[in-house]
Amino acid sequence: MGNYIYDFSEGNKDLKDLLGGKGANLAEMTNLGLPVPPGFTITTQACRSYLKTGELPPELRVEVTMALRRLEDAVGRRLGDFHEPLLVSVRSGAKFSMPGMMETVLNIGLNDASVQGLAEFSSDERFAWDSYRRLIQMFGKTVLGIDGDLFADALDKAKAARGVSSDVGLTATDLEGLVGEFKTIVREGSGREFPQHPREQLDLAIAAIFESWNTDRARLYRRRERIPEDLGTAVNIMTMVFGNLGETSGTGVCFTRDPSTGVVGVYGDYLVNAQGEDVVSGIRNTLSLQDFEALDPTAYGELRQAMRRLETHYRDLCDIEFTVERGKLWMLQTRVGKRTAAAAFRIAIQLVDEHLITMDEALGRVSGAQLDKLMFPQFDARSERVLLTTAMAASPGAAVGMAVFDSPTAVAWAAEGKDVVLVRRETNPDDLGGMIASVGVLTSRGGKTSHAAVVARGMGTTCIVGAEALDVDAAARQFTVGGRTVREGELIAIDGGSGEVFLGDVAVVPSPVVRYLEDGLDAAVAAAGDDEDVADLVRSVHRLLAHADTARRLHVHANADTAADARRARSLGAQGIGLCRTEHMFLGERRVLIERVILATDDAERQAALDALLPLQRADFVDILTEMDTLPTTIRLIDPPLHEFLPDYTELAVKVALAGVAGESDPHDVALLAAVGRMREANPMLGLRGVRLGLVIPGLFALQVRAVAEAVAQRLKDGGDPHAEIMVPLVASVMELHLVRDQAEAILAEVSEREGVTLTIPIGAMIELPRAALTAGRIAEAAEFFSFGTNDMTQTTWGFSRDDVEGAFFSEYAANGVLSDSPFDTIDVRGVGELVRIAVERGRATRPELTIGVCGEHGGDPDSIAFFHAAGLDYVSCSPYRVPVARLEAGRANV
Ligand code: ADP
Ligand code: MG
Ligand code: MG
Repeated sequence: MGNYIYDFSEGNKDLKDLLGGKGANLAEMTNLGLPVPPGFTITTQACRSYLKTGELPPELRVEVTMALRRLEDAVGRRLGDFHEPLLVSVRSGAKFSMPGMMETVLNIGLNDASVQGLAEFSSDERFAWDSYRRLIQMFGKTVLGIDGDLFADALDKAKAARGVSSDVGLTATDLEGLVGEFKTIVREGSGREFPQHPREQLDLAIAAIFESWNTDRARLYRRRERIPEDLGTAVNIMTMVFGNLGETSGTGVCFTRDPSTGVVGVYGDYLVNAQGEDVVSGIRNTLSLQDFEALDPTAYGELRQAMRRLETHYRDLCDIEFTVERGKLWMLQTRVGKRTAAAAFRIAIQLVDEHLITMDEALGRVSGAQLDKLMFPQFDARSERVLLTTAMAASPGAAVGMAVFDSPTAVAWAAEGKDVVLVRRETNPDDLGGMIASVGVLTSRGGKTSHAAVVARGMGTTCIVGAEALDVDAAARQFTVGGRTVREGELIAIDGGSGEVFLGDVAVVPSPVVRYLEDGLDAAVAAAGDDEDVADLVRSVHRLLAHADTARRLHVHANADTAADARRARSLGAQGIGLCRTEHMFLGERRVLIERVILATDDAERQAALDALLPLQRADFVDILTEMDTLPTTIRLIDPPLHEFLPDYTELAVKVALAGVAGESDPHDVALLAAVGRMREANPMLGLRGVRLGLVIPGLFALQVRAVAEAVAQRLKDGGDPHAEIMVPLVASVMELHLVRDQAEAILAEVSEREGVTLTIPIGAMIELPRAALTAGRIAEAAEFFSFGTNDMTQTTWGFSRDDVEGAFFSEYAANGVLSDSPFDTIDVRGVGELVRIAVERGRATRPELTIGVCGEHGGDPDSIAFFHAAGLDYVSCSPYRVPVARLEAGRANV
């Protein structure tokens, strides 16, 4: 047809850019021979032109006239005719569905004359007036911008006057009266008469739909969903069919499978004698499809056939909008339907078993984010609950525990075997112990990247943040919300998936998927008992994960610092440890020793402390290497800034000052204060840390290298197969690495000779500074492997402080569209990603066999994994519970 118009018989489902989702699918259904009312689509191209110039393209008027003529000839009626009027709907439809952007206008073509024609032609006067009042209502609201409540109130008044509760109780006369009132509302609300000319109605509706692309609400929605601004919307003009033509007519929506559980079968709602939005708006109670079948077996049979046809054609779950006019079925819309995470996994496997899709395609139908959702326990929605407030869901899961208001209480109560939920205004690093001890964390302040949120997500602990309705009084050990006070020890329940906070106990159902991941398929199926939905879900997850494992190129390693973490990681499918942090091994009672190393005034004192640390650290490594036998285990030398191992300067200064005033000053504290003061840095994250520390504090790295070497030697002698690797953090220059390397090689040689074993322990660099990425070609001369530390690399590339960024300006940046995701959650492909690509290319140019991985938070982020795959990395490393997600995403990236 013309430039801007496609007849439904001309398009197809692959033309969504041009026809929008609705138009493309209407064309597809038309081509399949399904009963779609005839019509045509005005392309997004016309919308783009309108948005640029502010007026409808001149050719469009002519094209609409021609298309309309053709439609009129095809159905044998004229738009707005006195006798047998053709009526049309005008429906928006962009490439991506945008709820709440623009509504549809039905019954275009009705006016004071054609309403009579419609009444005669249908022999149903009530129907004709009902259709006319709907037109004025929808047109007034969506095209003329009049407050919809004015119409709704008038409708309510008419119902009250007639003494009926539903609009179907209104008579033709009532509705005719209502049309008069609606016209008055239009006149008073817009300063003009309701347009009587059908073509004017049509043109105004088309322009209004184009305009609606740029409403504030539509822009905001697009920014949030990352839908491009310049797509525009299509407009569909479609012959009206009538579900409001009495008892043998109706309208409904349905799904070809259950979108919430994935169970095979048909699901939907039907409403007799109704039109358009009536079904979803909840104005009357709907019937089930089973009721519909009983009511009209023929139409139902046709619908079932159409559903089957669509499913085999789209090879996926479809949702459908349909209407029955005097017993005849009409298909008004279809699309591939949204579904829950559980349904996604089950449906993907069902479709494979029905030979509709391949296993590779099935992987494309599920996502790591969905698997993540399935791994958290859930509250039983059927149990009774008292909602206190709803806030930001920061880390999923369902946690029930006694409210506690400080970390020491959390730790003490947990040690007694109690489940506790830590409630704080906000958390800080001192709360770490309490957070670990708690089943859930709830804060009244902070956003999705606040300390509480980030740490809880990392630990897999359920967390809700920013619950501003809570007034948390830690000193009084209570919080109040909506006039209710919850004291220490009272039970609360938090849902980290929905952000809901409940009072008291709520029954929890554990995640069967985690049981499968930890204990295997048989155990999980056995535990499901006769719950076939659960058994089927774990079987589906198993088959998809197994396929991802065969499909992927990327290996998946875990970040694990203890033998227990290592064991868990391995059971969840980790193929190695990509990051074993050693600094945690210096905390607790060992902290005094490291303090002594740092503050030593002579070599002997320092060496004594180092000697005391050696056996402790060696034992840690032996444990981990035992768990990780045969698999690569990358151990990172000490990284964090020194002050993390020393007492807090301010607290110590106060202590010393108070002791001085009391005349009881402690010379140790005074010396310590001086030392801590000397080491204070304005910007510790850019200060003395990582490799710098190793080069400045004599003996520290040597101790760690020796501990690794001796642990490997011991494992070898015990008949093990250890694969330790040593990773040097925060390298900026190849010279740093050469210095560390020379020293390390000497130690490895010495231990090897003394113990009489061959030690093969590769030494590599973390690439986490822009300079390291840019000089990767040189660094690769001294590095046997690279591992990207994308957290620090994001921080140093953007110049954002990881620890301050949230409160300072991230929310503002999200609101104004500078950032859509936090670059700390999902890799910034353009900036940080470019450094990754450069480092890979330059590193491998120097050393083609260079192994390259990533061990930052991004290693477990679904969106980032696809990028790392494309960038040619060998593995991603993430926290143990993210390993299955990474396995799935790595598989998806390679099919
Ligand atoms: P949305 O995108 O909000 O779902 P639609 O364009 O699908 O809006 O229109 C909403 C409803 O209006 C449809 O589900 C259908 O019931 C009804 N409708 C639209 N066009 C027609 C038509 N030509 N005949 C009968 N009903 C229609
Ligand atoms: Mg619709
Ligand atoms: Mg780092």
